[in-house]
Amino acid sequence: MKTVDDIRKLAKDEEIDYLRMTFSDLNGVLKNVEIPVSLLDTALNNKIKIDGSSITGFLPIQNSDMYLHPDLDTWTIYPWITTGGNTASLICDVYNRDGTPFAGDPRFALKQLDASLSDLGCGHLNVGAEMEYFLFKTDEDGHLTTELNDQASYFDVYPSDASEACRRDTVNTLKKMGFSIEANHHEVAPGQCEIDFRFDDAVHTADRIQLLKLTTKAIAVKHGLRATFMPKPLAGMNGSGMHLNTSLFDGDRNLFDDPKADHGLSALATNYLAGILTHARAFTAITNPTINSYKRLVPGYEAPTYVAWAIANRTALVRVPDGRGPTTRFELRSGDPSANPYLAIASVLSAGLDGIKNKLTPPKNVEDNIYNMSAEQRTAQQIIQLPGSLPKALTTLKSDQILAQTLGIIVPKYLEIKHKELASFQMSVTDWEKETYFNV
Ligand code: GLU
Ligand code: MG
Ligand code: MG
Repeated sequence: MKTVDDIRKLAKDEEIDYLRMTFSDLNGVLKNVEIPVSLLDTALNNKIKIDGSSITGFLPIQNSDMYLHPDLDTWTIYPWITTGGNTASLICDVYNRDGTPFAGDPRFALKQLDASLSDLGCGHLNVGAEMEYFLFKTDEDGHLTTELNDQASYFDVYPSDASEACRRDTVNTLKKMGFSIEANHHEVAPGQCEIDFRFDDAVHTADRIQLLKLTTKAIAVKHGLRATFMPKPLAGMNGSGMHLNTSLFDGDRNLFDDPKADHGLSALATNYLAGILTHARAFTAITNPTINSYKRLVPGYEAPTYVAWAIANRTALVRVPDGRGPTTRFELRSGDPSANPYLAIASVLSAGLDGIKNKLTPPKNVEDNIYNMSAEQRTAQQIIQLPGSLPKALTTLKSDQILAQTLGIIVPKYLEIKHKELASFQMSVTDWEKETYFNV
């Protein structure tokens, strides 16, 4: 745990000129205010103020002052800013004027839920994320084009993997920022990449997801490219997922591991899994929050469409990847990187905790290709469908009592924001409509 003196020393030793005080809005969009290092003490005294009425999902205009409380352990230098002053960032919690944490702050919601785990004797949550994204080319003026950066596929090598240099630069930058990178590779679709970093506690993994997205975009620009984390940038090709690997730990002991039990999964693990399957349809509105998210959740592209769990089957929603002992974990395959990572992880944890509290039991694992099953086969195995659109997902979220209880004021605010987004989409006319209906 870093102290204020550690931060003062780091700022001096690293010759920091500017500090980015950073947080996320309800949609998961990263926000920041930059201050000169001369105001470091003001920041460390939690005195940096923001206008909460201009942040999506925060406060109404008549009472909108809020304060940023930096988490000192998130101190990170932005290595890609090489001119105009050295820049560091601190990720902050958002507080009300009366000194209480703001209940609508996604980071706080996750922190609070995670803290409740130890009261239940469930240790703490560890989360690992697999981040997929696309690289697109820009034109001579630096404007985004619809041309992918390469035509390579899964695990391809140079020269077909023309994204290799940009990805390596991104990974090296992330390493300088303290990430422990486990893998990076070309993904299945042309122009598609993946970067995986080592798991950590829930809040710090969510923080890193935010920093990884920022860094990946910044480094792509340096390479004359644009990185996008939108879930399905191109029809007819794989989309980008954000698989979340979760496990409960007591100290160093993985509470999901039980070598003597079926599949090597403890009773706690199976209860947690059952909770995830029970609430999966409802939390889809949070793990898959955009209209575009549902273009990815279709059969045939390695993204799940049905609620089921499996050991090796990549058509299932939840997989238990090989390896038990300390690496025992559930891989949730539905989430995508447009999600607010704090809320996505919090909603998955709420679901798992409900399973634990109510000792829920999951159905049998499904190892057949679910995309190819008939409706009868799915019904026989209790396999239900994930919501096929954002409106359906929002309706399911609205009726989920557990998510409403654990996320508090966030759920109604979130539903309000998302319904506005849908209304705006409803008013727009897409290229597809013009192409299909022009000559009616
Ligand atoms: N890109 C796939 C998705 O949309 C996942 C591929 C994989 O298994 O890594 O989720
Ligand atoms: Mg992948
Ligand atoms: Mg995966």
